[in-house]
Amino acid sequence: MTAASAARACPVCGQDDATVWLQKNALRLVRCRRCAMIYANPVPTALASGQYYDRAGADYYLSPAKLESDYAPVRYERELRLFRRHCRGGAVLDVGCSSGAFLFQLGRRFPGDYQGLGTDVSGPALDYAEQRGVAVRRGSFLELDFGGRLFDAVTFWAVLEHLLEPARFLAQAASLLKPDGLCFVLVPNMKSLAARLLGARYRYLYPQHLNYFTKATLMKLVAPCFSVITFHTTHFNPIIVWQDWRGGGRDVSPRERAQLLQRTTAAKQHPLLRPMKALYGLTENALAALTLADNLAVVLRRREAREAESSPQPDWFASTGREG
Ligand SMILES: [Zn+2]
Repeated sequence: MTAASAARACPVCGQDDATVWLQKNALRLVRCRRCAMIYANPVPTALASGQYYDRAGADYYLSPAKLESDYAPVRYERELRLFRRHCRGGAVLDVGCSSGAFLFQLGRRFPGDYQGLGTDVSGPALDYAEQRGVAVRRGSFLELDFGGRLFDAVTFWAVLEHLLEPARFLAQAASLLKPDGLCFVLVPNMKSLAARLLGARYRYLYPQHLNYFTKATLMKLVAPCFSVITFHTTHFNPIIVWQDWRGGGRDVSPRERAQLLQRTTAAKQHPLLRPMKALYGLTENALAALTLADNLAVVLRRREAREAESSPQPDWFASTGREG
């Protein structure tokens, strides 16, 4: 990563009116006074452009530990369950697909039901996805021309938090959806139990994450293009809470991140840990009921232009709309 960095306005409301919220090593987070969005400012240029993911990031995304974890059947089980419940087939575009594991699992579990296409800025990760039989398009999503092709679903699994301009990505996704197509978004929850307990110690407050969403700010971000079908929080990793609490906010190397993912994945699949898994499941459900789980997950439907004009402020602010 180069030392150069650039200032930015609020990625949700576009205003440039924020106060410093937290400084953690080189990462400076600010909070927008208008909409309460928390975001990194300034941002290193390599991260802003996505160049980082094509170069340095490949070491992480293509490390054996990360690949093994991504390609394990349990890795995307929550995402797959959510996706399948709302989309039974058709053309699926996975934006920020990395090594292609989500589309790979989707094709494997439901053979013939979906036509998957992945896109990413990381060339090495896409090379790997292609080796696993996943169709890909290379380059920045905002600049890609899909030649009029429309999709039944567009997915952003843990992607929007990495983007300089998440609103433009959502607008592009909306323009690529069929009239009743759906958009799936999963981002870290800044009001999760883990984030509240750990504060600056939380490993997911780190330079690659440019945007830090709460339910309210995510809803504001999606509102111009989408209406919300379901909202809930999901995932809980007690090992991370324990490690970060003890680690006291030191930097966690990409290698350690990948190794932890690998260990968590192995634990999820270990037969002796089944009773633990039941307890873990109950804990995750309880956290989800309180919207305190690690990630925010939303399923979105494209808003028609007329609908967007007539109701700029829909009523989902009040609803939790949680699903199991
Ligand atoms: Zn704002």
